[in-house]
Amino acid sequence: MPEYFIPSWDEIENDIFSIAEKLISESFYPNAIVAILTGGVIPAKLFSDILGVKNLKYVDIKFYRGVNSRESKPVIRAIYANDLEGKNVLIVDDVSDTGETLEAVTNVVTMFSPIKVKTATIYVKPWSKRFPDYYSKEVNKWIIFPWDKWDIVRENEDVPVQNKDRFIKLMKSGKG
Ligand code: 5GP
Ligand code: MG
Ligand code: MG
Repeated sequence: MPEYFIPSWDEIENDIFSIAEKLISESFYPNAIVAILTGGVIPAKLFSDILGVKNLKYVDIKFYRGVNSRESKPVIRAIYANDLEGKNVLIVDDVSDTGETLEAVTNVVTMFSPIKVKTATIYVKPWSKRFPDYYSKEVNKWIIFPWDKWDIVRENEDVPVQNKDRFIKLMKSGKG
């Protein structure tokens, strides 16, 4: 029986603020944010609003985890980025697990000649080989975020999330 960590929107807002406060207390003022698609989009939008950073870019990257997961690497599918030259860039994702995704995106962003590159994820798995520069908590469970829970429920209807019955009804009555 897997154990999950299921943060609420409120908890996530608090965690995002803790991270934003750390950035400012260390005098790191990003003037560009790169969101890792798709889990990093909502956190990146929140940082963008809270920090007043209008320059928001995206990297579409997918970690296809197979049987030999330790051999595999994330695949970069598209880079939606410009105007990172000479900028202090904050790369944002929801969580760092192995650390491969952050490593790959950091390498991509570095090619755009930024001044500084820092990484932030809301959570980090304690075994990650690449801890983000900024995070709020270490979590050793599978995390179900408010923005990805329906993909998870589609695979496993036992997970205890809010509005699950409404989702399952939609899924079974249509193309959900
Ligand atoms: P990594 O490359 O660090 O192994 O994996 C990072 C990516 O895997 C994240 O962008 C995220 O989409 C996904 N991921 C890793 N761990 C979790 C988790 O516990 N919950 C969810 N929802 N996604 C995860
Ligand atoms: Mg992701
Ligand atoms: Mg995901």
